[in-house]
Amino acid sequence: MKNKLDNKIKVLLVFGTRPEVIKMAPIFWELKKNSEVFKTTTCVTSQHKSLISKLINSLRIKVDFDLRIMKKNQKLSDLTSALLKNINIVIEETKPDIILVQGDTISAFAGALCAFYNNIKICHIEAGLRSFDMKAPFPEEFCRKSISSISYLNFSPTNLNKTNLINEGILKKNIYVTGNTVIDCLFEVLDLYKRNKHINNTINRTLDNKISFNWRSDKFILITGHRRENIGTAFENIMLALSSIAKTNNKIKFVYPIHPNPLVRTTFEKLTKRLNNFFIIEPLDYFEFSVLMSKCFFLMTDSGGIQEEAPSLGKPVLLMREKTERIEGVYEGVVKLVGSNIKTIAKEANLLISNTNEYKKMSKINNPYGNGMAAKKIIKVLKDRFL
Ligand code: UDP
Repeated sequence: MKNKLDNKIKVLLVFGTRPEVIKMAPIFWELKKNSEVFKTTTCVTSQHKSLISKLINSLRIKVDFDLRIMKKNQKLSDLTSALLKNINIVIEETKPDIILVQGDTISAFAGALCAFYNNIKICHIEAGLRSFDMKAPFPEEFCRKSISSISYLNFSPTNLNKTNLINEGILKKNIYVTGNTVIDCLFEVLDLYKRNKHINNTINRTLDNKISFNWRSDKFILITGHRRENIGTAFENIMLALSSIAKTNNKIKFVYPIHPNPLVRTTFEKLTKRLNNFFIIEPLDYFEFSVLMSKCFFLMTDSGGIQEEAPSLGKPVLLMREKTERIEGVYEGVVKLVGSNIKTIAKEANLLISNTNEYKKMSKINNPYGNGMAAKKIIKVLKDRFL
């Protein structure tokens, strides 16, 4: 506990992948707004180096430490040990009172473990998501469960996440339901796109350059895929399903900003060679991707974050994986779990394309993951608990 007259509360944020940058940004902004109370330091691991360097700037995050941890073909164990060693150096130099980690990556896990070894309080953002399968998503289920076992405060996006934590013996008084900060970030970015002429023009111009059809008026389905557990047979099947849907619906366009992982690329790049309504493009910056999400017909993805974002925009999601730790969207009827079976994926996509009632049902704007106020709630709790 700190007295208001004492030094500020020293907060260290540890993050390094694209979704973490997006979800940590609203926390960073709120901490900065409260700089009379908090001294904030950021430690970026750069686990997704190519995807985050521009993103960090566009989201106005100031980097204090960049660990530049990624090496080509690095094994998970090597990545973990490099992270532990380097985050520990940052902790020794900055001596934080609290360490904030977000979600379920190896960066978050290593940040939490280092905090634990140094007897520093861990606050976990996006706590309590569970697929109840250690192998899917891999290794994320392990990371988030491990973080929960050593966290001091847990910020859960939904009541269901809170129940999961209570069932694992986490004290109720240390769990706060806040919504997900991904919605805060999405609203901020789309608001900037609407209000700021310069940003609006830049995004429109970039999308015009990258997409060779009229993305403002043509009907298109937006696709992403990168999950480690889908690599191999599942992606081969997904590719065949997408190919069949694109052939059957040749008036609709398909856009796939492809993930940099070479194993994902080799499977999907075969597609464009054969279909002239299927566009594989390089990963989009978050601002561009958010705008494209708001314009698309619906989404087909295996992503975690997109399941949370799309319901705020009234865009149905066909989720191409076997299990999800974000089941709330499925319960709400705005996300459908279609796995990686060729026939199921094709059937569900064709149903959404051809059946207006089905589409209407799935495109109601009802987001169980929050209303854009998560970061404010989290910072208020930090003040209440640490001042
Ligand atoms: N995203 C992006 N550009 C893209 C594809 C996705 O900025 O080309 C954003 C998307 O809006 C979401 C986040 O990246 O906020 C999700 O990241 P990803 O699917 O890579 O990871 P996951 O959420 O599955 O961990």
